[in-house]
Amino acid sequence: MALPKPIVIGNWKMNGLRADSVARVEALRAHLRDAAGRGTLGICPPATMLTVVEPLLRQGALLLGGQDCSSEPGGAHTGDISAPMLKDAGCDAVIVGHSERRHGHGESDALVRAKAEAALAAGLIPILCIGETEDEWQAGRTLEVLDRQLEGSLPAGASAEKLIVAYEPVWAIGTGRTPCRDDIARNHDHLRRHVGDIVLLYGGSVKSTNAGEIMAIANVDGALVGGASLDAEEFWAIYTAGQAAGCGRAAAGAT
Ligand code: PEP
Repeated sequence: MALPKPIVIGNWKMNGLRADSVARVEALRAHLRDAAGRGTLGICPPATMLTVVEPLLRQGALLLGGQDCSSEPGGAHTGDISAPMLKDAGCDAVIVGHSERRHGHGESDALVRAKAEAALAAGLIPILCIGETEDEWQAGRTLEVLDRQLEGSLPAGASAEKLIVAYEPVWAIGTGRTPCRDDIARNHDHLRRHVGDIVLLYGGSVKSTNAGEIMAIANVDGALVGGASLDAEEFWAIYTAGQAAGCGRAAAGAT
């Protein structure tokens, strides 16, 4: 079944101990209880917090995701976490190909595709991240880079309900900078032509002050939020800004 839009997912990255993680989830649950509205709210906490927050999420209808998975289902891979393990921990989804993995850990398109396929095989929705670096952006090569990354890392056989693509310009992640409205619109139009009805998120320095404008752009179905998702009130404000902007309704066949 298609996820209702806006789809707003928080990537906590390497942040979260028991106390602050539980407090953040409790705050989101309280908001959802009081004013859920239309849409999908999700979080991707660090692996150590998945089974801590999972029982709370189930009662509050939040989507739960991992931040990365192995391309292998199990075995001698010290330190790695497999997609079946994430599924067993209660995850619905997993981020693959985040720029901090592609650039920080040297992950190739082929590896990202293998991870996305492992996620699908385990019954998880891969949240496939793609995006250009600052140099590529400056050189006007954004669309070429997005095409190459999609070509190289889109998993085989993913239906529209089973995959999310997040456009995240590397230079916008954690910097407070975002592409202008027209550039996001152009890039998402371009991606829409390639991926059809697959959910398209924008990510990179989304805050409550720019979330409404970004999520009002056609073919932006929601947001992947890093730093701002660590503050429950700010994260909730981003979600409600997306709802108010009518996010997702502009796209044909929006649910
Ligand atoms: C991210 O890391 O996926 C991200 C979008 O980060 P930020 O919102 O902090 O730019």
